[in-house]
Amino acid sequence: MNGVWEERWHPLRQEWVIVAGHRQNRPWTTGETATPSGPTPPTHDPRCHLCPRNTRVSGAVNPDYVATFVFDNDHPCVGPNAPSALEPPPPPYRVQAATGIARVVCFSPRHDLTLAEMPTAAVAQVVEVWRQQTRDLGSRAGIRQVLCFENKGELVGVSNPHPHGQIYATGFTWRTMEVEQAAAVAHRRETGRGLFEDIIRAEQKDGRRILFEDERVIAFVPYFARYAYEVYVVPKRAVGHVHALDEAEAASLAAALKDVTVRFDNLWRMPFPYVMVHHQAPVDGGEFHYFVAFHPPLRQPRLQKYLAGPEIGGGNFLADTSPEASAAELRALSPVHYRAQ
Ligand SMILES: [Zn+2]
Repeated sequence: MNGVWEERWHPLRQEWVIVAGHRQNRPWTTGETATPSGPTPPTHDPRCHLCPRNTRVSGAVNPDYVATFVFDNDHPCVGPNAPSALEPPPPPYRVQAATGIARVVCFSPRHDLTLAEMPTAAVAQVVEVWRQQTRDLGSRAGIRQVLCFENKGELVGVSNPHPHGQIYATGFTWRTMEVEQAAAVAHRRETGRGLFEDIIRAEQKDGRRILFEDERVIAFVPYFARYAYEVYVVPKRAVGHVHALDEAEAASLAAALKDVTVRFDNLWRMPFPYVMVHHQAPVDGGEFHYFVAFHPPLRQPRLQKYLAGPEIGGGNFLADTSPEASAAELRALSPVHYRAQ
């Protein structure tokens, strides 16, 4: 039998992942693109609410920015103006005001670029924004956690190609990081070691799933990946927040993000959709190892991973590809973007 067919323990989420890689068939030919690429977007789109100098729906006019640009979301899901006089529901229900801060981060003034096509120095400027925003928003009264993320591509609901991410600073802690923190605390208690210290060592010992590694940062398809091309980018030194990295670590992080996103685009020679999330500690810290996770929804060029019975109903993932096979595909690709080759 070809492929992996087993259940793997996800040590961060404390749950099993069913890896059914033996079912994966590969009906496409190498180099085939997922969708006929439409025309390349213009470098500036007058209808785009993120491009420099354009007017947004709120009436605000974007500055003529040259690198990154951050603004408060015009349609915030959490915000200082959320209703605060709320009627208490009967128990066991609870309610609280949706206060917090929601921001948009434009990665580049160029409408047509993505992280994958930006120079590493420009990616480093985006890393710097995440550092400043996490530090700034995390110090505000009532904020318990800062969540930085990027939804990229129409498959994850984003039709505007302008490279951008979002930041939610909330009065609650996010579920995923709560679970990860509890797992790390338990691991420390049981072994005396950091959980990611052991994960990094296990990945290095195997070696097959590593995509990028230098002295300070390592990127790999984790042994317990839930999505076909899931990638973790992990600083080797444990810090709770992106702003706690030193300058050299931040530079390595930018280089790793560039390397990974280029491989993604080169896989099927298309802008590769994903959800990218910074896993950071709550603002008051505690046991936590900051890292960046990429969750791509595609498992084949035209085949999306749908969340269904196992994932939505049961709460555990069914992975259709072995992490080793996905990593081998990504490792074999050029680190130079296909549009620059
Ligand atoms: Zn734009």
